[in-house]
Amino acid sequence: PTNTRRPLVAGNWKMNGDKSLVEKVQSHLAQAELSNMDWVICPPAPYLGLFDAGTKLGVQNVSQFDSGAHTGEVSVSMLKEFGCGYAIVGHSERREDNFESDDVVAQKVAKVLDAGLTPILCVGEPEEVREAGTLFDYIANQLDAVLAEVGIAAFTNIVLAYEPIWAIGTGKTASPEQAQEVHAFIRGHLAKQDSNIAAGTVILYGGSVKGSNAKELFSQADVDGGLIGGASLNPEDFLSICLAA
Ligand code: PGA
Repeated sequence: PTNTRRPLVAGNWKMNGDKSLVEKVQSHLAQAELSNMDWVICPPAPYLGLFDAGTKLGVQNVSQFDSGAHTGEVSVSMLKEFGCGYAIVGHSERREDNFESDDVVAQKVAKVLDAGLTPILCVGEPEEVREAGTLFDYIANQLDAVLAEVGIAAFTNIVLAYEPIWAIGTGKTASPEQAQEVHAFIRGHLAKQDSNIAAGTVILYGGSVKGSNAKELFSQADVDGGLIGGASLNPEDFLSICLAA
C-alpha cells in the first residue's frame, strides 16, 4: 500500500448478542494472528465489563454531557473506566431513532476527543439523496458540522465511517467503485483544509460488509477498513473480515 494508514475493522453489534457471544467472539479473536491491523468490538454497553482486558472495546453511543440529570445516558468517563478506546458517533440509526442532529453529533465527537478516546464518526446518505444527485453536498454538510466544532487538527484523532444508509443491514453492499468514489470525496473535502491530515485519516466503509466482499472493498485506495454490523455477530465471519483488512 502507498499510504501509512493502519487498517481498522470495528464490529458494531447494535442491540444484538448476549453473554455467550462475548465468550465466543473473544476466544476467536484471541487465537487469530492480527498484527497488521486494528480491530475493535462495540457491544451493547452492559456487556463491556464482561470482556477480558485484551479485547479492544468501543461503545455504540455516548452522552454529550459530562454527568448529572440525564436519565438513561452513559458518560464518556464511565466508558473509559471499562477500557473503551473508541466510540461510534452519529450512526444513522441514532440520527434517525434518536433524532441526533449534526450539532449533537459534533458535540459528542468533541466530548469523546476531550476524554482521549477515538470517535468513529459515521456519515452517509439515504437512497433518495443519492438518486437526487446531491450525495456530495449531503456528506460535506455532515462533515462540516464536525469540522466547525472541533477543527481539522482534531481529525488526526478521528476515524470516519462512510455508511450509505441504503446499504446498512440490507444485504445491498455499495460496489467497491461506489465506496471508493465517496471515500475519495471525503478525503478530498478534508484535504481542502489540511492535505497531510486528510492523507492520514482512516476512513472505514460500512454497509453489508461480509467475509465474501470485504477483500474487494478494502482493496480500494481510500477504503481503510470497515464498520461491520450483522457480520460482526458471527465470530468466523468477523475474523475473516479482519483478515481481509
Ligand atoms: P451492516 O451494518 O453491516 O449490518 O449492514 C453496518 C452498520 O450499521 O454499522
